[in-house]
Amino acid sequence: MWIIIGLAGTALLLFLITLICLGIWTYRDAKLRGLEAGMWTAIVVLVPNFIGLLLYFLIGRKQQQTLCPSCGRKTEQSKPYCSNCGASMAQVVQSLVASKNNSKKPLIISLICVVMTFIFMFVAFFASMYAQPEMFSSKSITIGQIQTMKPGVWKMSFWYFDGEKSRAIEIRDGNPSALNVSAEIEKGKVELGLAVDGKEEKRISLNNIDSTYVWDLSGYPENSRVVLRLYGDAAKGKVNMNWKD
Ligand SMILES: [Zn+2]
Repeated sequence: MWIIIGLAGTALLLFLITLICLGIWTYRDAKLRGLEAGMWTAIVVLVPNFIGLLLYFLIGRKQQQTLCPSCGRKTEQSKPYCSNCGASMAQVVQSLVASKNNSKKPLIISLICVVMTFIFMFVAFFASMYAQPEMFSSKSITIGQIQTMKPGVWKMSFWYFDGEKSRAIEIRDGNPSALNVSAEIEKGKVELGLAVDGKEEKRISLNNIDSTYVWDLSGYPENSRVVLRLYGDAAKGKVNMNWKD
């Protein structure tokens, strides 16, 4: 368990380093380009899934501004003339590009950290699956389930069934007198339990029942509340029950 916490903690730490490095790089890069450095750093760090970084590349960097050597005010770098005084900007652009040597180190470190974050997360995930499978299987999960619940009928097919399902039936005037069960279990295990008035009477495995299994209900007293309970253990297959007489 401690190994898993350690792995997950390392993944978290690596992710934090990723964000810090990205923040440093963005701040410097935006500053050099005369952009709103604080705002772009916040966007890159806080907008999830690196969408902030994408926005910075697609929008932020396009808005690059520079100082006009003639009038000293900020102007868009992509335009050939200053928008304030009309002076030619060709030379300024040249010199700015030359001075723009923002270190790519933080960007590279953050890329490495992102890859390592994923590796640690995967290792932590598989380690926890291996060490504590009940952590994943104790939850009642059913995937790809098709169920038919009509009076006297309970049919269910499932691609993955793990957990419990139950359905109550009432015995009146000796009806129903029998429960017919058939099942085709391809993977995992399925058991059927039958509780009468809250007490489990018996449980059978549905993995190896051939043809139809008949469960005699005639011995139960009038107005008994019978609960059918299916227990799935990573199972795939079909169960068909009916108690029409
Ligand atoms: Zn100007």
